[in-house]
Amino acid sequence: MSEAAGKVYLIGAGPGDPGLFTLKGKRCLGEADVVVYDYLANPRLLRYAKPGAELIYVGKQAGTHTLPQEEIGRLLVARAREGKAVARLKGGDPFIFGRGGEEAEELAAARIPFEVVPGVTAAVAAPAYAGIPLTHRDFTSTVAFVTGHEDPTKDETGIAWDKIATGIGTLVFFMGIGQLPEIVEKLVRHGRAPATPAAVVRWGTRAEQEVVTGTLENLAEKCQGMKPPALIVVGEVVALREKLRWFETLPLSGRRILITRAREQASGFAAVLEAAGAEVVEFPTIGIAPPESWAPLDAAVARLREYQWVIFTSRNGVRFFWERLQAAGRDIRDLAGITVCAIGPATAAALLSVGIRADLVPTEFKAEALIEAIQAVFGAGAIAGSRVLLARAAEAREVIPEELGRRGAQVDVVAAYRTIRSASDADAVRAMLREGKIHAVTFTSSSTVKHFLDLVGGEAEVLLRGVVVASIGPITAQTAAQHGIVSHIVPENYTIPALAEALVGHFRAARP
Ligand code: SAH
Repeated sequence: MSEAAGKVYLIGAGPGDPGLFTLKGKRCLGEADVVVYDYLANPRLLRYAKPGAELIYVGKQAGTHTLPQEEIGRLLVARAREGKAVARLKGGDPFIFGRGGEEAEELAAARIPFEVVPGVTAAVAAPAYAGIPLTHRDFTSTVAFVTGHEDPTKDETGIAWDKIATGIGTLVFFMGIGQLPEIVEKLVRHGRAPATPAAVVRWGTRAEQEVVTGTLENLAEKCQGMKPPALIVVGEVVALREKLRWFETLPLSGRRILITRAREQASGFAAVLEAAGAEVVEFPTIGIAPPESWAPLDAAVARLREYQWVIFTSRNGVRFFWERLQAAGRDIRDLAGITVCAIGPATAAALLSVGIRADLVPTEFKAEALIEAIQAVFGAGAIAGSRVLLARAAEAREVIPEELGRRGAQVDVVAAYRTIRSASDADAVRAMLREGKIHAVTFTSSSTVKHFLDLVGGEAEVLLRGVVVASIGPITAQTAAQHGIVSHIVPENYTIPALAEALVGHFRAARP
């Protein structure tokens, strides 16, 4: 082999909940030049791909193959031969009914180096999220994974129905929902008791998770019209769901929530929502970029000692100010004697993380309240005649500088960063909104509203009908209202934790 050696990683993406993706899978995905992914691999994992990596969707919904299996194999070989690192991301575990074995065989035949990164198979995860332990000392000591969709070209069955019907405690059928009546009939015909508990788990671990329980006798009837992907679980352990169901009891389970804030800021918010059971879709509408020029901020940093006040209105402002302070070879001692204000707790936390305790954080987290707080704490005349540095986004509201100016302060407003529109996949989000797959949309600033509308386009207002809109505070809600979008949720505190809590409260109340 003369080519530069590429490599293929066959990676298990897990069952859907992105939290069930493995650390090794994440690392390999992050190193890949090309990512080839399936229908069942949650696209949210693609955020771990290297920026600029080639992303290739090879579909594969039951029946409709976007790319035939042989071509997937050829694609992997071709890209690896170009010397590329290829991540082949497959739903669940690659070697459990995922044709990962065949793909590996092709790679081996072509002498392409490969590694297999196991994933959490749906057979384990979907029952777990349904509250069904696959084994249990009191009920069963054996479990089998069975295909419910045998190769239709096979004349004879590869499944020893007589043996599995009675010889195995718990049976998990993949790809069997279309053949559910035949499967239960065969099990009963081969000796399994008709009263055996059985369940179907559809879209396990995802917002759409649906669980139907019954017995071999009545399950097929109860599941009429159900579509893949679903697993059939048969055995006494299914009865434990009664006691052990947990996922459905989380306040946000079954809810898919769109986060529109910048990618680098989304993870904390996403984590809180996911902990409450939500499925999060990240749709970064804005990105945080350095200002057009550092000169104004650098100049302000150079004359820092001339200021009596420094005001920060966001974490990004703190971050870039701190970067430029360091770049100038200086540190927090240059802030000695200066009163530092933060608009809210997240900004104050960002300051604290670089060793600066904010002298003032207003109780209401918006510009007007900051002015009031300054006067309340330091006296009405505190500002007059003083010099104030306001390090913030290039395109922010003018309330703070105008109000401070009116009170006799000399305010230097410097752009510490810019918010720019992010190049996000609006088609995918439009499709999800149209299909009713998004249950709530969150706006965490006026710019997220504006850029969301720009990205989603003219039909945004229509697409948002029936969707819960959560805005972080009154200014954001007002911007939304100006575009005809009513905010159903506006928390009393204008913070991310309060917004998450308000979403939990809203959906808990909506639960039947
Ligand atoms: N390699 C995958 C299975 C691929 S075969 C794994 O280890 O999970 C595809 C079948 O897997 C589907 O038809 C369905 O039976 C099952 N499946 C995959 N994800 C599922 C999910 N989230 N919930 C229920 N069943 C799922």
